[in-house]
Amino acid sequence: MGLFGSSGIRGVVNEMMTPELSLKAGRALGFLHKHVVVGHDPRTSAAMIEDALVAGLLSSGARVTRAGLVSTPTLAYAARRFSAGVMVTASHNPSEYNGLKFWNPDGMAFSLQQQDELERLINGDLKGVDWKAIGQESGSSDAIPDHIAVILKHVRPCSLKVVVDCGCGSASTITPYVLREMGCKVIALNAQPDGFFPARDPEPVDENLSQLKATVRATGADLGIAHDGDADRMMAVDETGRMVTGDELLAYFCRFEVKESVACPVDASMAVDRCGKDVKVYRTRIGDAFVSEEVRRAGADFGGETSGTWIFPRISYCPDGIYAAAKVVELVSEHGPLSEAVAQLPRYPLKRGGLKFAKEGWKAGIMGGVKAEIEREQYRSLNTLDGIRVQYDDGWVLIRPSGTEPKIRITAEAVDAGAAERLYARAESIVKRCIASCAQ
Ligand code: MG
Repeated sequence: MGLFGSSGIRGVVNEMMTPELSLKAGRALGFLHKHVVVGHDPRTSAAMIEDALVAGLLSSGARVTRAGLVSTPTLAYAARRFSAGVMVTASHNPSEYNGLKFWNPDGMAFSLQQQDELERLINGDLKGVDWKAIGQESGSSDAIPDHIAVILKHVRPCSLKVVVDCGCGSASTITPYVLREMGCKVIALNAQPDGFFPARDPEPVDENLSQLKATVRATGADLGIAHDGDADRMMAVDETGRMVTGDELLAYFCRFEVKESVACPVDASMAVDRCGKDVKVYRTRIGDAFVSEEVRRAGADFGGETSGTWIFPRISYCPDGIYAAAKVVELVSEHGPLSEAVAQLPRYPLKRGGLKFAKEGWKAGIMGGVKAEIEREQYRSLNTLDGIRVQYDDGWVLIRPSGTEPKIRITAEAVDAGAAERLYARAESIVKRCIASCAQ
């Protein structure tokens, strides 16, 4: 197992995520980058992990600027003035976790190659520089006012009533201020940073947002906004107090924000393809870093993942929950109530399930068999970026091995429920046959 997961280095504090590891990571990064901006979310381990990281950076002769308690998109935006940025955060994970996420000046997370290079240096035997060459901390960064300024430059003033649930995370430092500056009446919930996340679990999923939904209803607000711990994610609640799903929010942004092209993962709804315009859809592997990379590669107008990460390249390639909040507020102000706009979006029946198999080692054989069977069928297109996604005239199927257990997951979405059932059943019977043949 490598150090890096899909979002940098992350683990339970003082088990996997130790100050020793953070120091080595800082020393390795400082070997490659000589002026680095560092920020953190409100986790209780932030000082311990960040100070060790900074010690490592300085020991390699790098200059360090601290951005303090900020959101991840704020830090990634600040990185444009440096050679790299590091955010000390574990995003939506519970309080006992922390991690390091590395940023390029254009707001892209470190690529797999950059992570590999860093990991080799972390595992190597790097020594610090001569004492006369040790790095210094230089000044503090204007990360938050700079981020607020660029967001306000790209949204119009509006005067809605908005409830913002910061979840005691990094959003407390920025989202309520941005929306007030736009002219909104803001009711801020859980806007006191607290690394124990006492108000709710930091992940902005429906079951964690009951306080937000109730407050939107009780105050007659136009909408509600929720963030995860480091505010790269944003989800919304409509004026009736219903949480808008990730697929709906993706289609909503597509309808109003996308002129030519959009990037989204292979598991996002086909509502994206059919939101009323002739838009080119680039499908990517699942994970926001892959969506960001594709937005940059394809020059797409927008990218999104249904977990609540929204990428607007006019700001940066980092998913920006703060700008996404400002943008959804602006769109509601322009196009009317969120519930009504969402009801007009295309919506399709979707069926999800999966089949378990006995041995982890069968995975490649099963997926190889599935691909061979499907290639003998009639379909419109086949995408093997992440599992196997088959596009038919009336819908699509995704067959994808689970990353965490010996299981093949199946998703089918189609123009009507009958077609979704039919596509699902056909995929399921193929997977069943391929599991059986591996068992022989
Ligand atoms: Mg996050």
